[in-house]
Amino acid sequence: MDIQNLLDDIVGSIKPHIGQGEVAGYIPELGSVRADHFGISVATGDGEVFSSGDSEMAFSIQSISKVYALALVLAGDGDRIWKRVFREPSGNPFNSLVQLEHEDGIPRNPFINAGALVVTDRLLSVSQDASTAVRDLLRTESGNGSIQIDSIVADSEARNSNRNASLAHFLASCGNLDNPVEEVLDAYISQCSLAMSCTDLALASRFLARNGLRADGTALLSPAQTKRINAVMLTCGTYDAAGEFAYRVGLPGKSGVGGGIIAVVPNNCTICVWSPGLGRSGNSVAGVAALDEFTTRTGLSIF
Ligand code: GLU
Repeated sequence: MDIQNLLDDIVGSIKPHIGQGEVAGYIPELGSVRADHFGISVATGDGEVFSSGDSEMAFSIQSISKVYALALVLAGDGDRIWKRVFREPSGNPFNSLVQLEHEDGIPRNPFINAGALVVTDRLLSVSQDASTAVRDLLRTESGNGSIQIDSIVADSEARNSNRNASLAHFLASCGNLDNPVEEVLDAYISQCSLAMSCTDLALASRFLARNGLRADGTALLSPAQTKRINAVMLTCGTYDAAGEFAYRVGLPGKSGVGGGIIAVVPNNCTICVWSPGLGRSGNSVAGVAALDEFTTRTGLSIF
């Protein structure tokens, strides 16, 4: 298969979708990103990269960071986190407060905001500097040592974080945070504000397509842990539209409100797409359409 031709083709055929949807505006700095970008990169298990469109342009990874925070917690601390976070789809918006109260402060899964705050709290306890741990993993695995937190995006989110602060305070009131609320929020906002390109993210995520093996061949996760992260991505990784994503794309995926989506073809490759226009559930419209086309044309899905 000529992957490069395929990606160039997708960049052409996806054009009608580019600019559809709304750029996330609740973090003001994200709202200033132009909607008409589109990039795609594929990284194979052995590190070959194919890319097209705006694939080298850095964007805000936002919730995609939740995958790497979870990977680091599972790697360093094993299964303990599953006593504090469930792994079921929430059927609610990613920042919902309602369910958390009904379920006594145990978030439905690690990819909604409440669950990610608990994961980041644990990462703070096991690594002291959680966002630096996430950044360093992404730098090492992508081979791009210049990956940084975008402090303008981080400040913008910090000034508009009442809802995440509410979630964090409620978690603390239920005894489900070990560290001070302000420290957890700060680490969470910092990891979300990492700026990376499609190529960076596709390369950095390869351990998910390699049974947990890092770029240098050592194990970050066991094959079983990797299976479990991919399973939670499939069921909970694309907001309240994970069913639709599985139907259209058929791969474990994680999206972010910056418009990026990372998808995993186990034992084969990773794909990262980016286009800032988001559909009603918060997933990139052109990004989902591109992944749909990629898996439909290649047959590279898990189904
Ligand atoms: N930092 C964002 C928030 O907490 C991440 C949301 C997302 O990408 O889903 O609202």
